Amino acid sequence: TSSPYWPAPTMALGGSAVAGRRRHVLLFPLAYQGHINPMFRLAGILHGRGFAVTVFHTHFNAPDPSRHPEYRFVPIPDGMSGPAPVAIEDVVSHILALNAACEAPFRDRLAAVLEEYSGDAVACIIVDTHLLSMVEVATKLSVRTLVLRTGSAACLSCFVAYPLLIKRGYLPVQGTELPPYRVRDLMQLGKRHDLTCKLLERVVEAVKASSGIILNTFDALERRELVKLRRDLDMPVFDIGPLHLFSPAAAAESSLLRQDRRCLKWLDARPAASVLYVSFGSLACMSARDLVETAWGIAGSGVPFLWVVRPGLVAADGLTRLPDGFEEATRGRGMVVEWAPQEEVLRHAAVAGFWTHGGWNSTTESVCEGVPMLCRPHFGDQMGNARYVEHVWRVGFEVAGALERGGVEAAIRRLVTGSEGAEMRARAGELKKAAKECTGEAGSSGLAIGKLIDHMLAL
Ligand code: UDP
Repeated sequence: TSSPYWPAPTMALGGSAVAGRRRHVLLFPLAYQGHINPMFRLAGILHGRGFAVTVFHTHFNAPDPSRHPEYRFVPIPDGMSGPAPVAIEDVVSHILALNAACEAPFRDRLAAVLEEYSGDAVACIIVDTHLLSMVEVATKLSVRTLVLRTGSAACLSCFVAYPLLIKRGYLPVQGTELPPYRVRDLMQLGKRHDLTCKLLERVVEAVKASSGIILNTFDALERRELVKLRRDLDMPVFDIGPLHLFSPAAAAESSLLRQDRRCLKWLDARPAASVLYVSFGSLACMSARDLVETAWGIAGSGVPFLWVVRPGLVAADGLTRLPDGFEEATRGRGMVVEWAPQEEVLRHAAVAGFWTHGGWNSTTESVCEGVPMLCRPHFGDQMGNARYVEHVWRVGFEVAGALERGGVEAAIRRLVTGSEGAEMRARAGELKKAAKECTGEAGSSGLAIGKLIDHMLAL
């Protein structure tokens, strides 16, 4: 996992970067693609700096150890069965259930690992902020804990504010704003708002119980938000993103679905800045009707496209079928794949724009390549991310309201062929430059990585 933005690791295990006695770092990602990718990117950075990496993981969405022969993997039986959750309520209860199910077996496995490595050899454990139960177990076993939050700084600030808003009765009712967010940009609490509130409170608790928080963001993207967060939390905050620029191979290695690389060849044959890339991430689902409107909107725009139609993208019946006639209507100017090597696609010169659900990884991957976005947020932090894309960074816009093919056509043309789209692309290009600068050795994120490692060794 070497990076064009970072010198190849020169220090071997036990070398000068990491003192021999504190050479192990333990990691526990949340088992969703959007959380696994940043954790493995972080693993790549720490391994490159001389740490030995041990990854605890659930059986659900387990990583493939053969793709990471340099790490040690410790499976935690989670007793979960059945398909991955779809609706936001299901995701929330699934995360809470994973916490409950893993707590006891994690305690046993962690104790065994500590005995094996001798506690003193372990610098710390880095846990996803959604796994409060693991933070508590580690703390009880006297392991120093850091947390990784895989969303934006702005979103975390909201989470910190939520418990108070809920207590004061502002949420889930309408009537409050956390600028630049409007009410509609805040995380929707869903039908089981009690569970969602609990989830958010637990994230904040995990953060506060830890010795520091790692964020996949960077100073030039969220300077004000980071200042606010540091003020609100009064604890070390390490903004070391965009993680994928430091660890470019990590996401391909930790992809749960097979990335179809044929689309890169297909892109090679396209003119520069001509193709719309469409993907709604690993969880978001759409209705069969929305799929049909999306398909005919894409077809009607006349713009060449690469579309990720993931198995299970259409929720209701599990059947994800593009409408009859779509293939003929778009033959020669479109490609549909089940899963793409997204980072490489966004980096490809042929890509002009990205129609995204606005997950934080997709958003940062897009801005780092200077690709403007159409956002169609589904749940969680996606509405807030779309707000930043449109109103703060002005590198894209939201496709709001009911999906209609005519509206889709117009939005695609506005982004890919219109002059407004060109301005958004230019602004995204500025962010791309800023992201490159901050990942240099003297850049803000490069320096923050150094501070993080010093902090880990001093805990
Ligand atoms: N991704 C990918 N291939 C695809 C679509 C997505 O490798 O076809 C990766 C993408 O690069 C990102 C992750 O999956 O790192 C999705 O994370 P995000 O936070 O954007 O959304 P989520 O899936 O969590 O909703």
